[in-house]
Amino acid sequence: MSAKLFAEACDVIPGGVNSPVRAFASVGGTPRFITSAKGCWLTDADDNRYVDLVCSWGPMILGHAHPAVVEAVQRVAVDGLSFGAPTPSESELAREIVDRVGPVEKLRLVNSGTEATMSAIRLARGYTGRAKIVKFAGCYHGHSDALLADAGSGVATLGLPSSPGVTGAAAADTIVVPYNNVAAVEDVFDRFGDEIACLITEASPGNMGAVPPLPGFNDALRRITAAHGALLVVDEVMTGFRVSRSGWYGLEPVEADLFTFGKVMSGGLPAAAFGGRAEVMGRLAPLGPVYQAGTLSGNPVAMAAGLATLRAADADVYAKLDANADRLTGLITEALTSAGVAHRISRAGNMFSVFFSDEPVVDFASARATDIWRFPAFFHGLLDAGVYAPPSAFEAWFVSAALDDDAFDHIAAALPGAARAAALATEPA
Ligand SMILES: *Cc1c(COP(=O)(O)O)cnc(C)c1O
Repeated sequence: MSAKLFAEACDVIPGGVNSPVRAFASVGGTPRFITSAKGCWLTDADDNRYVDLVCSWGPMILGHAHPAVVEAVQRVAVDGLSFGAPTPSESELAREIVDRVGPVEKLRLVNSGTEATMSAIRLARGYTGRAKIVKFAGCYHGHSDALLADAGSGVATLGLPSSPGVTGAAAADTIVVPYNNVAAVEDVFDRFGDEIACLITEASPGNMGAVPPLPGFNDALRRITAAHGALLVVDEVMTGFRVSRSGWYGLEPVEADLFTFGKVMSGGLPAAAFGGRAEVMGRLAPLGPVYQAGTLSGNPVAMAAGLATLRAADADVYAKLDANADRLTGLITEALTSAGVAHRISRAGNMFSVFFSDEPVVDFASARATDIWRFPAFFHGLLDAGVYAPPSAFEAWFVSAALDDDAFDHIAAALPGAARAAALATEPA
């Protein structure tokens, strides 16, 4: 069925998918069409079941179709789906986030992480009156033009568009530097400091695989940006409310000027947010001149899913997420070691990635230098045995609190075959 559904999808949707990674392009094979999910299990159109280690790319920390979230969505849906006017649940969700992340005094709700980072950049430029922004190679902040610029590693590589359709002009003010490299950041600020509106970073990158900041790195970003009058924008779209109830900020409290959130905060429905110091957020329309808007922003059904998710995620849930990540990475290491496959588990809170390498991975260049050609075999070994891992070597794996002994038994049974397949994979000529 998945093959037939994929062919039908390809007839009307470019590549058959609405977000490229879903197409399995980097691992090959036919994407599975998912028809339902419950707890830590996905069911596809052929009635195959998979233990889900993607969790909708992060949001489903409680597992799928959690009763409290489903009930909340059903309860508000009968009262209307969208009003285009303020609703009480928007301030409830904003309050929930403001109370958890110290430096966030005011929050604006949007519909996707892309919108959150795009709007935060516009606000930083409007606030400082400066044009340039700094981002890191391998950090993903959604697909807006200025943030797709990623000229790869190399100090102060001046923005070249990394996608056709992104004009040189849109990317020209984006400076890309290698991650975890304080000297490279200092160098661009020494050269362009008074033209830089902001530096944007993932709180702990998860989009070149999970590659955590080295100790002191985020503090150095705070120090350097402040010294040059630039804003620090910390993108917590992936880490926010996943790695702790206060996100990465709860593990490493760096006082950024602006934060962006998405994924977990809306429990699987489309909503996201950006927020920060009241003085900066006050420049947004209608208080200030920086325009930002959204027909469906603060949608009541999305608010209900987000509130129910954040409220159900108590200390036990976060402890479970950490324990599940420990247990899963332990099993993966055991299987790969038995099969004689050189690897590193790169861990950031309860997120992690599996890199096939003996060398530490600290940035995009070192992530790309790993034996990524082993990944498709490992991935399909797991998939064939009913374990749904992320279909790319450059993605994080996501656990939910719903993983139980039965699921772990299933994973433990799948891993040895997948590890053997990874061992037998050969580097393409
Ligand atoms: C997923 C992600 C985004 C983009 O969010 P979308 O909702 O997919 O637009 C931005 N930043 C980070 C760190 C992300 O992981």
